[in-house]
Amino acid sequence: MGKAEFNRKLREKVKKLIRDYNLIDEGELVAVALSGGKDSLLTLHILDDLREGFGFDIVAISINEGIKGYREEGLEAARYNAKLLGVDLVEKSFIEEFNFSLDEIYGMFKSPCIPCGVFRRHLLNKTARQLGADKIATGHNMDDEIQSFMMSLVRGDTRKFSKFGPKLEVIHPRLIPRIKPLWNTTENETEKWAVLNNIRVHLGDCPYARLSLRSKIKNFLNDIESERPGTKKLIMQSFIKTFKIEQEEVELFECEVCGEPASMKTCKACELIALIRGSL
Ligand code: SF4
Repeated sequence: MGKAEFNRKLREKVKKLIRDYNLIDEGELVAVALSGGKDSLLTLHILDDLREGFGFDIVAISINEGIKGYREEGLEAARYNAKLLGVDLVEKSFIEEFNFSLDEIYGMFKSPCIPCGVFRRHLLNKTARQLGADKIATGHNMDDEIQSFMMSLVRGDTRKFSKFGPKLEVIHPRLIPRIKPLWNTTENETEKWAVLNNIRVHLGDCPYARLSLRSKIKNFLNDIESERPGTKKLIMQSFIKTFKIEQEEVELFECEVCGEPASMKTCKACELIALIRGSL
């Protein structure tokens, strides 16, 4: 398949997903979480391409977690592509917001991905709300979704099943709903898009990724897929058939410390900050 045909099919697939699941309404502002990797860049490029037709606008947010030798290159790719498309990019960092970088605190946790994910989601939601965004679009693709599904199975964490699907609805007025425009796009497709279109992407892997459960599950799924092609799609189909993609009713409050949405008296980010300050 040539470049033009590949791009057209990809565009149609994302367009259909946005329509089928009503991911974005006319007049909305969508904040794209932009790491500079291929998935977030495809999300940015494709939403930029579709915004006029659907009548929405976009802004990009990049978070610098403070991972030496890794994040800066991603940020350069994010800045380059945002400028190329004329999209405003807002940059935030752990060091400015929380007074520590991920490199300084990751050793206090079982996996660096725990504080990284908690603080990134916190900062992304807060920034998107300050910008007046109606949705946050992340670059999660089909492979990521299957990995998350398997991770929840391995951990026996069935509550996480409610977070699957291409759209997370409004469950708290201060929580910006999240959408995944690449939900049914495979990692192979995003790779092919970046190569065919000669996109400047950040290809490096996070130095902490190998410590994560996700990385182990990703390798496991890739091994099975190479022996039995089609396995990933079958897992995804089984998941969709077995579990209804519906949001679980979760009661959320406002964090007593920072005012952000929280499932308990204090939010996860403030809980971890207290832990880190007590140990520093
Ligand atoms: Fe953060 Fe883990 Fe992703 Fe690295 S692999 S960026 S530590 S969530």
